[in-house]
Amino acid sequence: MSLFTRQGRGRTLLLLTAVVVSVGAVCWLGCGGGDDDNPTNNNGNTTHTHDWGAWTVTTPATCYADGVETRTCKTDASHNETHVIPKLTGAACENNCGTDGTPGSCKTVVIGTQTWMAENLNRETANSWCYENSTESCKKYGRLYTWAAARTACPNRWHLPTRDEWRTLAKAAGATDAHSEGDGSGGTAGTKLKSTSGWYGNENGTDDFGFSALPGGYRYDAKFNAAGDIGAWWTATNGGVIGGNENDYAYYRVMNNYRFGEAVSEDVAFNSNGYSVRCVQ
Ligand SMILES: [Zn+2]
Repeated sequence: MSLFTRQGRGRTLLLLTAVVVSVGAVCWLGCGGGDDDNPTNNNGNTTHTHDWGAWTVTTPATCYADGVETRTCKTDASHNETHVIPKLTGAACENNCGTDGTPGSCKTVVIGTQTWMAENLNRETANSWCYENSTESCKKYGRLYTWAAARTACPNRWHLPTRDEWRTLAKAAGATDAHSEGDGSGGTAGTKLKSTSGWYGNENGTDDFGFSALPGGYRYDAKFNAAGDIGAWWTATNGGVIGGNENDYAYYRVMNNYRFGEAVSEDVAFNSNGYSVRCVQ
């Protein structure tokens, strides 16, 4: 708020200075033009000195976009001024998971050479859902996104990891196979990435790195499935090569509690499915 106050005061001082300069003159610089002018009547005489109210933020600045503040003349409410509040910067935005651009600390974790979000993305976008449409589920698991939605859902400075970036994560967590396909060759990377609670069947992980993977389930054919049993995360990589149809499939990573539950496996799926998202820097 100090930013806004400072700007408002600066404008007021400028205005007062201009009024003093204009004493005795019919009209001063920019008369009849800009927002800062005192209004004039048909003879060009000043009718009153604006009595500005306080600046009010009408659109808050965020880490992503400029904001706007306005003030209104107490003498004539049709006199208004607006100006831009610069987009926010600084440490709070550098490490921002804020889904609406509001600066805020972000749960992150560094694993090997990568910086990952340490929780599933919970940024509301078109074509994303809370499991069973439950707000409580979103707080726990984040949202489930179609692939198209996932590709643009990460906040500034973050992106949806490619197939290779997930591969790098799996290998950093000890996967023995290049892509840790669902054939058991993925080592125990899944166990090391899973949360220590939240998985049904006593299939929790050891969470060695603080990645805290949770079984957020998925959305298929407009139905929600397998929360507690399966966690599935989109990669940014098109799965057309395997799926055979360039537009229908994408790669994802999956952890579960029943088959190769210790691994973090890769597969392709219909890109209309709803899966979780972890963003990476
Ligand atoms: Zn006025």
